[in-house]
Amino acid sequence: MRDLWKRFSRHIFTRILSREQIQRLIVPFGRSVYMRRYAASLIIARIQLISMFFAVVVPLWSIVDMVTFDSPVCWQLMELRFISAAVFVTLAWPRSLSSVRPYVQAIVMMVVMMLVPSVFYLVSVMVLDLSTTTQTQAVMARFYTYMPIVVLGGLAIFPLTALEIILLSLPVLITTMIGTFAYGTVVPFGEIVTMLWCMTMMTGIAVFSGMSQSHYMEGMVQRAMIDPLTGVATRRSGSETLKLLFHLSEISSRPLAVAFVDVDHFKHINDTYGHDIGDQILRQVAKRLHNLFRRSDTLVRWGGEEFLALLPNMPAHQLAVLICRLKAGGLGNRPDGTPLTASIGIVETQVDQVDDWHALVELADYRMYKAKEQGRARAVLPGNIVMHLDPTEYEQNDPEARWPPEKDNF
Ligand code: GH3
Ligand code: MG
Ligand code: MG
Repeated sequence: MRDLWKRFSRHIFTRILSREQIQRLIVPFGRSVYMRRYAASLIIARIQLISMFFAVVVPLWSIVDMVTFDSPVCWQLMELRFISAAVFVTLAWPRSLSSVRPYVQAIVMMVVMMLVPSVFYLVSVMVLDLSTTTQTQAVMARFYTYMPIVVLGGLAIFPLTALEIILLSLPVLITTMIGTFAYGTVVPFGEIVTMLWCMTMMTGIAVFSGMSQSHYMEGMVQRAMIDPLTGVATRRSGSETLKLLFHLSEISSRPLAVAFVDVDHFKHINDTYGHDIGDQILRQVAKRLHNLFRRSDTLVRWGGEEFLALLPNMPAHQLAVLICRLKAGGLGNRPDGTPLTASIGIVETQVDQVDDWHALVELADYRMYKAKEQGRARAVLPGNIVMHLDPTEYEQNDPEARWPPEKDNF
């Protein structure tokens, strides 16, 4: 069984997937924030494209209805078409991605989009009296009954998980069954079985297509969002996270701290010991910093030997504790055995009133340069507090600064 799965997995996904990876393709939980965001933007873009198309085609099809059906039926169908078109226009309307819950936004839009053809189908079956006399009317009515299969096939273009596709196909399956059995002069029994079979096949195809799209998307997002050398967030994903955290900090009035960490005299390591050793040192720095921060914090590789730590809900008075912990743990050694140090600039949204996240990074960068200017191996904190990162105690440059005020912070 395991061998069979391995062969299948290699065939479909070109490599054997871990249990967590498979889980992420089956259920929509455990995906990273970036993955959810990227999937959401892709799903919404595709919904909008499809909706734009149907917003035009669905009402236009009224012409065919008018030619085919007689008066009350064709008017009822037209009414239905214009209501559906209004929903498609709403879905296609340009909108920005929700900064807080983009994936929920995408799924809600998806559900609405799937409900339109389901309801349309059900009502059209009720409206179309299949005692329709002419052959053209019968052909058209049958054409409508096959629409749900096309809709289910359409699910294949979305990077959704298996469970999501199955759940989204349910309204289509249920309304088709209701339509067929409750108003069921439409299709002979043999054809109902064929239709059910086709619908199951389409859902199956959509499930595999969705899973493989999700898999390739995960790989792509991973490459774009995770720095391959250090395993921390890239500048691109870090910027997105920072933008979101800044927004959340504004609406919740909770503090957000950002630390700009620049390794001291790093070029010298490269020049003396080579780039490979330099790379090893960067990995070591990332690991040390990562272990220092909380699970809710995000470490970003902002540039070559520059890291940005995003620290939500971190008030200024706790920053000293953080620096003390960094001082105690250190960043490891340089290849010559001497301690590796960094210069750090830290900002905090409530003390440093800044307008946007760009200004936050600029101020952190400015303070990092102040730390360099003052001799490196130190952190400059809000209120221009300077703390040494070598074993000597911290010192305050600004005598006015009341900070760090409470002794229990240490
Ligand atoms: P300072 O204390 O002023 O920060 O000096 P520095 O030498 O750390 O800073 P500088 O900006 O002069 O040099 C940074 C170096 O980082 C230059 C570049 O070659 C190196 N670097 C950037 N990215 C990488 C990388 O991915 N791997 C390695 N090994 N080196 C890198
Ligand atoms: Mg630098
Ligand atoms: Mg440096």
